[in-house]
Amino acid sequence: SGKFFVGGNWKCNGTKDSISKLVSELNAATLETDVDVVVAPPFIYIDQVKNSLTGRIEVSAQNVWIGKGGAYTGEISAEQLVDIGVQWVILGHSERRHIIGEDDEFIGKKAAYALSQNVKLIACIGELLEEREAGKTFDVCFKQMKAFADSISNWADVVIAYEPVWAIGTGKVATPEQAQEVHAAVRDWLKTNVSPEVASSTRIIYGGSVNAANCAELAKKEDIDGFLVGGASLKWLLFVALKTPL
Ligand code: 13P
Repeated sequence: SGKFFVGGNWKCNGTKDSISKLVSELNAATLETDVDVVVAPPFIYIDQVKNSLTGRIEVSAQNVWIGKGGAYTGEISAEQLVDIGVQWVILGHSERRHIIGEDDEFIGKKAAYALSQNVKLIACIGELLEEREAGKTFDVCFKQMKAFADSISNWADVVIAYEPVWAIGTGKVATPEQAQEVHAAVRDWLKTNVSPEVASSTRIIYGGSVNAANCAELAKKEDIDGFLVGGASLKWLLFVALKTPL
């Protein structure tokens, strides 16, 4: 459902020079016309990336402050993202949930405020390994979905990213069947709890050790509408190789 979506989450990686090289490669690449591509550089390089991308690749932040800017040392506001021309923000990423300690309520407030300022949302959900092993994958994902859904009125500006925590940065990709099972369940959750229209139009993308070698098999699954890629997005080839892996 919807146009295939590929996000590159660069996390806390890169230097002025390495990012300049990556952007040149992205500018030189021929992107598939039926794929939306978004890259998320570290805050400090966003303006550099925005100013040097020449094609139709959009830019995302990896985080945003919970409300209007002001006396919040170290934070970046949604208004400032808009000022620089940043169209997207990633929220609910497992690294922010589990390493930095953001909870559903905090993430939900951030989502509501970002959307109110017309910053589009890549809303991440996903279970820990022990939660999967305890049979709690759906419970965890649905609870995280509810926190987002309570904050979202305009679903046209939202992409859901299912990123099982055990697959992130581990080289242990979910099988196409494992990912499809959760994507279908999340779509069903949207159908019941939001609306059938939102369920069919919202893109649900997969993240966790996606690379050029495994993306084609995942992309074949009915409910996998794209990817959120970490490590492999630092190498431009993934983006051009999407439909025809090397
Ligand atoms: P990796 O692709 O490095 O596993 O990271 C996935 C991710 O967290 C994207 O947001």
